[in-house]
Amino acid sequence: MKFELPALPYATEALEPVISEKTISFHYGKHHQAYVNNLNNLVPGTRFENATLEQIIREAEGGIFNNAAQVWNHTFYWEGLGGDGVLKAGKLQEKINTHFGSFENFKEVFADSAAKLFGSGWAWLVEDKEGVLKIVQTSNAGNPMCDGLKPLFTCDVWEHAYYIDYKNRRPDYIKAFWGIVNWKKVEERLG
Ligand code: MN
Repeated sequence: MKFELPALPYATEALEPVISEKTISFHYGKHHQAYVNNLNNLVPGTRFENATLEQIIREAEGGIFNNAAQVWNHTFYWEGLGGDGVLKAGKLQEKINTHFGSFENFKEVFADSAAKLFGSGWAWLVEDKEGVLKIVQTSNAGNPMCDGLKPLFTCDVWEHAYYIDYKNRRPDYIKAFWGIVNWKKVEERLG
């Protein structure tokens, strides 16, 4: 099975000015594509030849894991963006209020976690097996599915996600990022 780069769910300039078309051209067009290409070069002849991305993420290690997880993580990241950042009343808003007190407080805790993550990685909103919402960090290509958690939303804090637009100012990227989250999509991911 050959893995493919999924189409972006919006135009390449749709996230402007928060994420520029130039960043998309590198982050989606080069980095995300490279993970797909690397994975397609690595899996032939291994037991993962006919596996899904999720199976590979749960079972593989090393380069195959890293590239498969990065393909999945980026697709998940892009799909969670392209919205207006408004969380409408509903199941997700209720759960966020229950577990974080308020949407504003959730954003503060998430942003702090994303900003303080050392090195390259991802900040995630996840749901555990009991339905509790949590914020977790993963390093490099890490994915919360490996810890039995259901990802709901993620922010890529690898430097390639923000360096063109924000240089070293990761907190500014995260602050602006809230304005383009597609909370409707995130709510659909709830179990
Ligand atoms: Mn990335």
